[in-house]
Amino acid sequence: MGEHNELHDVIIIGGGTTGLFAAFYCGMRDLKTKVIESGSELGGKVLQFLPEKLIYDVGGIPQITGDQLVEQMIEQASINQPTIIFNQWIETITKDEDDIFTLTSSDGTRHRAKAVIVATGTGKFNPVKPEVDGLESFEQKSVHYTISNLQQFAGKQIMIASNNRIGIDWALTLENIAERVYLVNNKNTFQHAADEELQSLEESSVIVELNSNLIELQGEDGWLDEITIKSDEKGEQRIKVDHLLGYNGLKMVATPFKEWGLETSSGKVAVDHYMATNIEGIFAAGDSTGYPGKTMLIASGYTEGLTAVNSVAKYLNPKAAPQVYSTVIYRK
Ligand SMILES: Cc1cc2nc3c(=O)[nH]c(=O)nc-3n(C[C@H](O)[C@H](O)[C@H](O)COP(=O)(O)OP(=O)(O)OC[C@H]3O[C@@H](n4cnc5c(N)ncnc54)[C@H](O)[C@@H]3O)c2cc1C
Repeated sequence: MGEHNELHDVIIIGGGTTGLFAAFYCGMRDLKTKVIESGSELGGKVLQFLPEKLIYDVGGIPQITGDQLVEQMIEQASINQPTIIFNQWIETITKDEDDIFTLTSSDGTRHRAKAVIVATGTGKFNPVKPEVDGLESFEQKSVHYTISNLQQFAGKQIMIASNNRIGIDWALTLENIAERVYLVNNKNTFQHAADEELQSLEESSVIVELNSNLIELQGEDGWLDEITIKSDEKGEQRIKVDHLLGYNGLKMVATPFKEWGLETSSGKVAVDHYMATNIEGIFAAGDSTGYPGKTMLIASGYTEGLTAVNSVAKYLNPKAAPQVYSTVIYRK
């Protein structure tokens, strides 16, 4: 909790692909920028849902994995040296008589800016964690809820706790990288799994334990050493494990657009052609927005992000040019 009193030209709420591109583009318009992200990492849904998947529909990049795209976007955003704040969920937004916005996060920290860009998607996605004591103490190092940085799993003993087809996908991805992969399901079926996926799992070297629960985690300094699992059929088994990955679905916490006073349509922020919302000085971009013809794609967030930034530039200085060319700016 605290005061982040330094006044910024613009605060971008959300550090997904839209927020990152907008943060870069703010540099093109000489805007002093702050990005506030509720999670501990940048990249939003691309990092959370498709870090290892290939993305083919970003202009100029024939194919790229989600985490590579996010890495490059962070590099691009950092050209503008925005202030980046992690682990803060913005709860309220108020505007004072001098048209300065105050954004307050759930821990009470306050941030001030002359304009705001909402790049929040529809909210944040929290993993439904496996039910076992002591999980948190391993989370920084050897307990994961998304499968990124595959190299860390090379030659290791991996346990995946999942009752979902995502668990099968992860197990089959790691099978050829890890020394051994256990897939521990607390039910006897995998949610949403197609027959071909179950067939591939059966033909793989993955050791599947059904109707099994995690009972105890053992290890030191955040590193796992052993996990005890238990089923009615086999009783307790102690298994050597270096990394545990958990996926039992995600719970979305919706961004409080209505509490912020924003008009919405089907749960999305209503915007005009300038990406302006109903509140003067607040603009929106990316998956947070809804309008006829809207597409929910990474590239849509880029275009909407730069429109929102250009609108902020105009809002702060009505004489500002409607747009600029990067070729002109970076030749300087
Ligand atoms: C399975 C899947 C596959 C996809 N495949 C493709 C594809 O192939 N190509 C493509 O172009 N698109 C694809 N998409 C869509 C793409 O992921 C989205 O369009 C894109 O991620 C939207 O980015 P965003 O930055 O607008 O929102 P998000 O990525 O949702 O980022 C929003 C960020 O805001 C943060 N946030 C939310 N509320 C607050 C708050 N109150 N305070 C602080 N922070 C907050 C969140 O934590 C999050 O990090 C796919 C999506 C999914 C789910």
